[in-house]
Amino acid sequence: MTGTSAAARSSRESTTTRMPRVQDFTLQVCATHEAGPYTRLRVRCPELLNPRKSDELLPTAWLRLLVPDGGRQHQRGYTLVECDHRTGEASIYMLHHDPAGPGSRWARSARPGDRIDAQLLAGQLYLQPPPDARALYVGDLASAPAIAGAIAAAPASCDIAVVLQAEPGSWSPVPHTACTLTVVSPDAGEDALIEAVTTIPGRDYAWLALEASAAQPLRAALIAAGLPRDAVQYQGYWRRGTPMGRTVETSARAAA
Ligand SMILES: Cc1cc2nc3c(=O)[nH]c(=O)nc-3n(C[C@H](O)[C@H](O)[C@H](O)COP(=O)(O)OP(=O)(O)OC[C@H]3O[C@@H](n4cnc5c(N)ncnc54)[C@H](O)[C@@H]3O)c2cc1C
Repeated sequence: MTGTSAAARSSRESTTTRMPRVQDFTLQVCATHEAGPYTRLRVRCPELLNPRKSDELLPTAWLRLLVPDGGRQHQRGYTLVECDHRTGEASIYMLHHDPAGPGSRWARSARPGDRIDAQLLAGQLYLQPPPDARALYVGDLASAPAIAGAIAAAPASCDIAVVLQAEPGSWSPVPHTACTLTVVSPDAGEDALIEAVTTIPGRDYAWLALEASAAQPLRAALIAAGLPRDAVQYQGYWRRGTPMGRTVETSARAAA
């Protein structure tokens, strides 16, 4: 018989109800520098990054930044990497893309001492590859920071392949020495990406994060190629031609 005991259920429910759906924070910019197509921001937030919380932030954890632009706030997702729970600091790599949006514009103008409001949403999921897994990460320059963080956290015994949709020669934070990296130009199209991904032999774990319309067909192709459905995690990270996040009036924040 399957089921959950009343005690376990009630303990889980009380844990769930204690967790706020959205936690608000303010990040302070400590340092900025241009890193290839990104601005790398070192940010400080001891309320979020401290030894007590070190188990709460999974690899690929991200914040919803409330980016000020044009008198309003624009919600945009950005990944926390290089977290140091002793100093309360982490890095965010914010990509400059064309056409630019509020997120990339704000990153270019950010200076040490600036502050930005951010939200941590409950329920973020990331399943770590098990020891000895033959893991595959597929992404682009927006998800390359998350892939770098995931590789840093993966068991050392994993064999890791990365397929990155990017202009050949583009810099990204993905650590070349810790994985086998294949770069596919966006100009080569979706079929070329699918072919590059499905011809990597013997994978038993996959994590995909791409433009929203590309993630689902790639997942389907991997499942058709033999990966178990529950071994494939995927997420759209941005939407071609339209902003991914909502624009909110300052007064609407409390209700979000
Ligand atoms: C969970 C999660 C984590 C993320 N982590 C990161 C991260 O660490 N670093 C990072 O740079 N991005 C990350 N992103 C992606 C980022 O949130 C989007 O790229 C976002 O749209 C950028 O906001 P913007 O204001 O600069 O542009 P927007 O106002 O959203 O978009 C303006 C225009 O640019 C286009 N555009 C948006 N993003 C891209 C892109 N990546 N490439 C090409 N064109 C684009 C849009 O289609 C639109 O036409 C993450 C997204 C998610 C969901």
